[in-house]
Amino acid sequence: MKLYNLKDYCEQVNFLQAVKMGLGKNQGLFFPVNLPTIPEKEINKIIEMDFLSRSVKILSMLIGPEISIDNLKKYVYQAFSFPGPNIVPVTKNISCCELFHGPTLAFKDFGARFMAQIISHLNTKNSIITILTATSGDTGAAVAHAFYNAPNVRVVILYPKGKISTLQEALFCTLGKNITTIAVDGSFDECQSLVKQAFNDHQLRNQTGLNSANSINISRLLAQICYFFEAYALIPKKQRKKLVIAVPCGNFGNLTAGLLAKSMGLPIQSFIAATNANDTVPRFLQSGKWKPYDCISTISNAMDISRPNNWPRVEELFSRKRWKLNTLGFGSVSDKVTTETLLTLQNIGYISEPHAAVAYQLLHNQLKEDEFGLFLGTAHPSKFKNIIDKILNINIPLSETLKSPSKLPILSHYMKPNFEKLKHFLTS
Ligand SMILES: *Cc1c(COP(=O)(O)O)cnc(C)c1O
Repeated sequence: MKLYNLKDYCEQVNFLQAVKMGLGKNQGLFFPVNLPTIPEKEINKIIEMDFLSRSVKILSMLIGPEISIDNLKKYVYQAFSFPGPNIVPVTKNISCCELFHGPTLAFKDFGARFMAQIISHLNTKNSIITILTATSGDTGAAVAHAFYNAPNVRVVILYPKGKISTLQEALFCTLGKNITTIAVDGSFDECQSLVKQAFNDHQLRNQTGLNSANSINISRLLAQICYFFEAYALIPKKQRKKLVIAVPCGNFGNLTAGLLAKSMGLPIQSFIAATNANDTVPRFLQSGKWKPYDCISTISNAMDISRPNNWPRVEELFSRKRWKLNTLGFGSVSDKVTTETLLTLQNIGYISEPHAAVAYQLLHNQLKEDEFGLFLGTAHPSKFKNIIDKILNINIPLSETLKSPSKLPILSHYMKPNFEKLKHFLTS
């Protein structure tokens, strides 16, 4: 697999190099040179396959001979060794595609666990690798669990202090061992910017064997393509004809993966990019002007990102495929409406959480009569027990996964959003 740097087309790397580097020169994202497509006749055959075999097939089409089929198979089976996507009908023409039945109860388990397999494949020299990543809530847990106890890997996770749910925090800040967590006195965008600065510092990068596990990492994105195929395979044939998928967006990695699935030939009619009040992309699609505001804290906190990293990949894909950007659905939903939507969903008989509710709301408003809609359930409602209980006036049972971490002490360090401080921390 060859990839080029979106900020410097001359810089080309292969898949393993892209995984190792995270970002290219000038903090540019890597993007595939070839966009493989599955002929229409073969799509149905691929859809008929089971989730794991199909995922191996899709990833081998993308990655190519750099990783042998036998190894790839091993990595996919180890990474996706948890309950996969689950389709739950919500209304007569809308279902939720639940992606949150993994070890940390969010869709990020798919990408993070596949990435962990690739990193261990890369680390044959057994040198120390530092995985430095910023999280708006769920990446931290997925990455921490995927790399927990991995030999020669140190994980350092930055998160905005006080801006993630207490259960999200408990899931990754109580582990210890090779997992270090830092509560940064700032926003997610500031955490993300610290990570980018660290990557720009070549000396630091080499000294610490720095690697990122954010959704800028191509291995995470590729893994996520697989569940879009599975979602399609799981819905009845008559719902597949005019399928609209609404994606709750933060860094736009999930949407990028869905669009890549479409580019490979998966017959998805269209997507809706759903954001909360951090609406840089919806405003851009409306006005053509890219104008990020300061990050706003919302109840769908994992989407509190005003400078979404993966957006350049979305634009590149539209341009490469000659799709019109105005075919991408979009919208932003306030906390007030999100709260009302959660209540509406509860009345219909579906307990959701704020991120999925944002996507449902826009799908519900924009879906045409002859279309079928899927919205992605990106996290388990019990991860947001504190607010869900209050809004819905229920006592949502804490899933087993959350019970014990919620009783353990938080081991996080504290830091001002200052690069020199971070550098000192990483090298001492
Ligand atoms: C990370 C996350 C999102 C946003 O996904 P992106 O790929 O960053 O757009 C949405 N919902 C939840 C629950 C998340 O954890």
